[in-house]
Amino acid sequence: MITSHNGPQPADFTDVRATNLAVVLRFVRENAPCSRADIAATTGLNKATVSSLVADLIDRRLLRETGLTEHRVGRPATMLVLDGSPYAAIGIEVNVDYITAVAVDLKGEELLNWRRSFPGGTSGAGQAVAAMAALARRVVSRMTKEARQVLGLTVAVPGLVDVNGIVRVAPNLGWRDADLAGDLTKALRDPGFPVLVDNDANLAALAEHRFGPHRNAANLVYVTGEVGVGAGIVMDGRLRRGGQGYSGEIGHIEVDPAGPTCRCGRRGCLESVAGIGAILARTAPDASPSELELEIDDVVRRARNGERDILELLENVGRHLGRGMAAVANMLNPEVVILGGYYVPLAPWLVACAEEELYGRVLAPGGGGCRLEVSTLGYGAAALGAAARVLDSVDSGRLPAQR
Ligand SMILES: [Zn+2]
Repeated sequence: MITSHNGPQPADFTDVRATNLAVVLRFVRENAPCSRADIAATTGLNKATVSSLVADLIDRRLLRETGLTEHRVGRPATMLVLDGSPYAAIGIEVNVDYITAVAVDLKGEELLNWRRSFPGGTSGAGQAVAAMAALARRVVSRMTKEARQVLGLTVAVPGLVDVNGIVRVAPNLGWRDADLAGDLTKALRDPGFPVLVDNDANLAALAEHRFGPHRNAANLVYVTGEVGVGAGIVMDGRLRRGGQGYSGEIGHIEVDPAGPTCRCGRRGCLESVAGIGAILARTAPDASPSELELEIDDVVRRARNGERDILELLENVGRHLGRGMAAVANMLNPEVVILGGYYVPLAPWLVACAEEELYGRVLAPGGGGCRLEVSTLGYGAAALGAAARVLDSVDSGRLPAQR
């Protein structure tokens, strides 16, 4: 995870006031509408301090007062909610067949969601940086026209991203040791906001945890359904990256020792038997990687028509997926595993078989309470999570400057 220069404001995490501002902002985000007295009662900050912090946050247009008042003993309390409409957080996802850009305001309201076809699998990191920079410039220009200040941009990449934001390996994109954040910052000519890079599964998990229907689950795993299969892991309410940032590479759990050779060189990895590439290798071996969406639509059509070979293929994929999820559930005991990406349209033919394997293989009764669900955030989950990553940094004290 890297941050390159010039945030909206230098984040001095030792600054008590900045920390307290973030505490109040987070409280209102989670509890709005709420009063100054509610904030004081729960955070332990005294009332005068809360009033001063709230005034500051209102000045920055991060909070606003609603017309609502709550009558308690004594005088009525004015209620506070998040504002944040003058700000935008941008998320971009690059993958084998597309680039997606999403912008949200501080409340997480979607401001735009653009998806472009892009041959990521054959382009190389340089071309991808140029394409992302072009898209990012258009998004920034739109936000600026709408009088919004851009707080930051995060890029989601299907690969191993180290703690410094270097993409160490992105096997399906063919990238190695790419300083994506540095290159993108340069391509955007030092845009004046931080540029971060993170793994796509981590970010999609963040999106589910912040915006999804399972946001109350403190323990969730998001599984990407792209050519690659990876997981983002939220445990005890926090994204878990591991020692060097490489957690969640579940695509390389061995589920079939006699299976086909994986891109990693080993045999029978989850990705090689249950990834989207494994499905298309059977249904459309000559398909261009940039046409995955069309090809998956075709698989869905054929499954709906009841074509026996397709149904058998999807059942087999579902079973292997369930074996992989059983390993995840035995290891992490999540409340919910969320299938994303191209698993979403294929879910009607995958989930029942996957659940059967999952519940049959998890030692804890009832799968340890683990539910298998399908993402409702659509193909943009990783990009949305990338924008959420920017909002997280606001939550943790990187507040935009007063304008
Ligand atoms: Zn592998």
